[in-house]
Order: sequence, then structure tokens, then C-alpha cells
Amino acid sequence: MTERRESSQETTSPVASPPERPADITVESLIRERYGALDQRDIFSKTAEFTVLERARALGIYPFFQPLDNNDGTEAQIYGQRVLMFGSNNYLGLTRHPEVVEAARSAVTKYGTSMTGSRLLNGSTHLHEELEVRIARFLRKEKALVFTTGYQTNLGTISALVDKRSVAVVDKADHASIYDGATLSDGETIRFRHNEARHLESVLKRVTHDKAALVIIDGVYSMGGDIADLPGIVEACKRHRARLLVDDAHGLGVIGEGGRGTGSHFDMEDDVDLVMGTFSKSLASIGGFVAGPTKVLEWIQHFARAMLFSASLPPASTAAALASLTVLEREPEIVDRLRALGNMWRDGLKGMGFNVGDSQTPIVPVNVGDEYATVMFWKALLEEGVYTNPAIYPAVNMREAILRTSCMATHTNEQVEQALEKFKTVGRRQGIIP
Ligand code: PMP
Repeated sequence: MTERRESSQETTSPVASPPERPADITVESLIRERYGALDQRDIFSKTAEFTVLERARALGIYPFFQPLDNNDGTEAQIYGQRVLMFGSNNYLGLTRHPEVVEAARSAVTKYGTSMTGSRLLNGSTHLHEELEVRIARFLRKEKALVFTTGYQTNLGTISALVDKRSVAVVDKADHASIYDGATLSDGETIRFRHNEARHLESVLKRVTHDKAALVIIDGVYSMGGDIADLPGIVEACKRHRARLLVDDAHGLGVIGEGGRGTGSHFDMEDDVDLVMGTFSKSLASIGGFVAGPTKVLEWIQHFARAMLFSASLPPASTAAALASLTVLEREPEIVDRLRALGNMWRDGLKGMGFNVGDSQTPIVPVNVGDEYATVMFWKALLEEGVYTNPAIYPAVNMREAILRTSCMATHTNEQVEQALEKFKTVGRRQGIIP
């Protein structure tokens, strides 16, 4: 792959065909170089010895940090080539919606580019407060708190609640920010098998009675596109008096009545103690929130270091999230459109023989397994004009590499059909499907 280019007008493809499977670009070599520093006394020595990325770049098979230009939602430009976008979290396609763009523009004019301070001090505006009220109302919770990113929302919320006298109980497939929030807390972290309520039950049974438990799950899993077994998990939590936090980053705007997420999908909104979500996906902005009972949120508001010691969400992003929420509430049919396209996309891939795992949403993983085959699949699809995201170890387990794909409410049927056709051609050529 050539180095990053200055101009979006460049027309050269970033990828050159590698001759054959390279012997020295493996997960094992990545781990050896990452953890096997020869000079233990120099903290930088490991960085000099970490050359696997350079070797991958030289062969044109490094798939990350690629600049996307002229991104209009369903299509974007990469190194001068137009591609169909099947690898974004812009589920409702609102990043180019005229109302959303205009809201961001006028917020910059009114408030400037940054609040230059944390929510606690000079970082709040009426826009932030309005967004909190609107999110709480949308999710039928007492109160919501807006953070600068979804990542920080999990860091702050989990570490504020879980202390020495409590445990964080997490699904094995939970998002990294949940793990990091639990690591930052003073309590122990216990994992349960992915989406297995019975295993959760046995884990909770072993938590001693002097400890309180916070169970944290994703509503919709970011890699697998599967939906949490909320009824089973709620039952286990209730039986053991554990509280439940649902990370609905990928559920909001995607499932449930009018896009209200996982609680609504199961008609169990009141059984979810806390919901967190991000504005960086369906709501076409950046930022995060947690919603739930007022007393609990006031605690988080005053003890979440990720909120207290970091500058607040910029006004333009706050206004964009608000405008996106307005569109979503006014036009709930876009969620139906997303669902229909997601079904078409998933069924199409499945019908061709791709292994799409347990996906039930517009997030559809194509399970390939071998890391090299996955990257080569990604590369060939890109050359054919379809953008997807490869996820390899450590984002997923070793030898369980996937192409993470997703569609958007604003895709046309023709775009989905075109992308399916490309998947069929490339998948057959590369031996991924028969
Ligand atoms: N939770 C989940 C499940 C996510 O997928 C993500 C982002 N990929 C986050 C939290 C973090 O959100 P943000 O990008 O807004 O920081």
C-alpha cells in the first residue's frame, strides 16, 4: 500500500497485489513483536522491533487508518476511487441530512467552535441540557447525562459506580470501553459467556453477599450484529439483585419502537436500569450519554472522572445530535427502511453461502476466520468499489477474523444489489463461498 496521500484527487489505488501469502505477517509475529522486546530497560525498544506493520504496508495489505474523502454517506472516495459504503455506523444516513448540517453550522455561529472546558465548569450550554432532556424523554428515563464520547461514557459511568465493594459482570463480547471502564474501577471484573443468561446466573450466584453487582451488556453486539438475550439477562439480574447497564450504541436508531433500542425491542424498557449510547452512530455526530434514575445520574455526574476532567461536547456536535434526534422522532419510518434493507443485505449474503453468524440487524459480519484471507477479501472488495471493515485479532479472537459490514437507511435497493453482486464475484474468486 502506498503511503497516505496529501490530496483527495489522487487516483492511484492504495493497494498493490501481493504475490503470495507472506510467511512473516502472521498474528504470531504480531504478538512476538508486541510483547517480546529484547531490551527490557528501554521503554522505546519494543517500538523499534515492531515492524510487522511496515511489512504489511510494503505488500499493500495494511487495511487501517485509510482516509475517506467526500463521504456523502452511502458513497465515499478513497484514494480517488468512488466506493459504495458498507462499513460505517451511519445507520440512518443522517450525517448529510440538511437539517443536521444546518444545526451544526448555526451552533458554531452562535457558540463558537469549542466550550474549552468540562461540563462541571464552563463546558455546559442550554444545548447540552436540551439534549439531555430530549434523550431522557425519548428513552422514557428520568434523566440523561451527556458525555464527550461514548467511550468516556462507559469509562465514567462504570468507574463511578463500581467500587471495592462491588463487581462489574461483563459479557465476553462487550465493547472495549466497557472493559476499560471496569479496569478503571476499584472493583473486580468477572466475565460471562457471550449472551448466555444461564452462565450469567451461575456467575452471579458466586458473588458473595457483601458485594453489589453491575451487569453490563451490549444491546446489539458491535461485531456480531446479534441482539442481547435481554429477557434471560434481566431475570438473572433480578434474582440476584444485580443492576443492569445496557450499552445501546448499536441499538439506538436501529431496533425497538421508533429506534428506541434494545429495551423497547423486548418491551422491557423499565427492566433496564441504565442505558448508555453514543451520538457517533445513528445520531450522526459524536458524544455519548447515559440515561436512568435521577439520583443515580447525579452520583455519576459528580464522580465520573471521564466527565469531570475532560472538555465537553462541542456545540456543533451537540446541535447535530439534537437535530438527528428530531428527524428520528419525526420520521420513525427510517428505522423500518433500515430494517428492511438490513434484511435484504443479510439474507442476500446468507443466500450466497457466506457465514453471517447470529446477526439479526443491519450489522452483518462475514465470518472468514483466517486473518490473511480476510484482509485479502477486504482488499479485493475495495478494488471492486465496495468499502467494508476487516476486524482481526485482537479486535476479535485469533483465527476468527471477520469483515464487518453494515448498511444504512439511505442506501438504495440498487446499491445493496450492486454490493451483493460484488460480494458474490469476489467471494467465489477467493474461495470464501462455493
Ligand atoms: N460502545 C459500543 C458498543 C461501541 O461500539 C462504541 C464505538 N464503536 C462505543 C461504545 C464508543 O462510542 P464512541 O465512538 O462514541 O466513543
